[in-house]
Amino acid sequence: MTLKRRIDGVTEIPPTAGLPILLGDLLTPWRANFAESAAEHIGVSHAGLECSGTACLVVILSAMRQGSARRSVVVPAYTCPLVVFAVLHCGLRVRVCDLSVDSFELDPAALRAVCDDDTLAIIPVHLAGRVANLDEVIAIARQCNAYVIEDAAQSFGAQRGGTSIGLQGDAGFFSFAAGKGLSLYEGGLWIARDATMQNALALASKQAIPRKPSIEALRCLQLAGYAALYRPLPLRFVYGWPLRRALRRGDAVEAVGDNFSADIPLHRVSAWRRSVGCNALQRLTNFHAALAAQAARRLPDLAKLSGVKVFGDRPGRQGVWPSFLLLMPSKATRDAVMLRLWGARLGVTRMFVNALPDYAYLHDFIASADVPNARDFAARSLTISNSLWLDDERFQQIVKTLEDVLFRDETPLPT
Ligand SMILES: *Cc1c(COP(=O)(O)O)cnc(C)c1O
Repeated sequence: MTLKRRIDGVTEIPPTAGLPILLGDLLTPWRANFAESAAEHIGVSHAGLECSGTACLVVILSAMRQGSARRSVVVPAYTCPLVVFAVLHCGLRVRVCDLSVDSFELDPAALRAVCDDDTLAIIPVHLAGRVANLDEVIAIARQCNAYVIEDAAQSFGAQRGGTSIGLQGDAGFFSFAAGKGLSLYEGGLWIARDATMQNALALASKQAIPRKPSIEALRCLQLAGYAALYRPLPLRFVYGWPLRRALRRGDAVEAVGDNFSADIPLHRVSAWRRSVGCNALQRLTNFHAALAAQAARRLPDLAKLSGVKVFGDRPGRQGVWPSFLLLMPSKATRDAVMLRLWGARLGVTRMFVNALPDYAYLHDFIASADVPNARDFAARSLTISNSLWLDDERFQQIVKTLEDVLFRDETPLPT
C-alpha cells in the first residue's frame, strides 16, 4: 500500500469548504479591527461583529422591535432552526411561509397570505452560497410595511450586480461558525443599507450583548482546536465519528447537527479572535476564487445528471461555493444516495433535515402548518462538499454513485 492510499483510506472531507486557519493566524494578535476589515472585504461602509449569526439576528430584531408594535416574524419553512430561536428570544412570534416549488426561496403567494399588519420582518435566506431573488419579497414587504432581513449566514462574499448581498433588504447577516467559509469558530457580522438602521443596530448591540469573558475564553480554546483539527485526518475523529454514530442510531437530526437549543449564547468577541479573523480574511479572496474555479469545473458533471436540479447563479449574481446544493427527482433516489454516501467520508450530507414544523423540539413554538414545498425540499435535497480536499477521484466517485442510483431508478425491474 502506498502512503497516499493509506492516507486516502482515513481522510474525511468536511461537508462544506471552510477556510482552514493557519498557525500563523493565531500568533499575530495586533490586527483587531475585524468588523471593519470584513466590511471592507465585501465593500460595505459599516458592519458589526457579534458572537454568532444568531446573535446578529437577535441584535437586528431587537432594534426593529423597539420602533414598532408589530410582533410577528415570517421565516421560510425550510431554514436553520436557530433563526426560530432568535425570533423567540426577542419575544416575537414565528410564522412560517412555504417555498416555491423546487426552490429554497419564499413563495410569493404564500408570503402574501401570511403577511399582515402584525408582520415586523421577513427573513428570506441565501442558502448554500447561492443568491436568492428578493425582488418580489421586498415588494410584498413594502406593501405591508415589514422589514426584510437577509439571512446570508452561508453566503459571506456573495454578490448581486457587483454589490454584497445583505443590502437589498433593510439588514442582513453572515455567519462565521465552524465550517461556514471564514470561521472564528463562532461569529457573525451584520450589515444594513442605510445609516439610520446601522446606528440602530450598533445601539441595540451595545444594549443587548454583555461581555461574558468565561464563554469567550471557551470560544478562544475552541478556535485554537478548530485551527488544529480542521484538516482531513483529524476531521475523521471530530466530524466523522459523531456523524457515523448518529447515522447508526438513525438520528438524522443529530447527523446534520440540527440539534439546537433555545439557549443562545450572547457575548462579545475578544480582540484575539478578531485578530485571527483579520489574518484569515487576507486569504479569503484567493480561497473563494479557488472554490469558484473548482465549482465551475464540476458543475457540468452534476448538471448532466438526469432529473437532478443543481442550484447555480442567475445572470448578474456571483454566489460563493461552500458546497453544491442538489434536488433529486424523488425522496427514494435522495435516500438511496444518502445510504451510500452519507458517512462515506466524501463530504456528502443534507442541509437541514426537516421543514421547521417537523422538528420535534420546535413543536411548542411553531403552529403546525401546511408547507408542502418546504417538506418536499427537505425530502429531496442533499449537498456535496466543494472542499478543495475533495480531489477529482473522490468527486467522480460521488458522480458515479448518483448516476447508478438514477439509472436504477429509471430502469424497470425485470419481470
Ligand atoms: C448557520 C446558520 C444560521 C445561524 O448562524 P450561527 O452563526 O450558527 O448562529 C442562520 N441561518 C442559516 C441559513 C444558517 O446556515
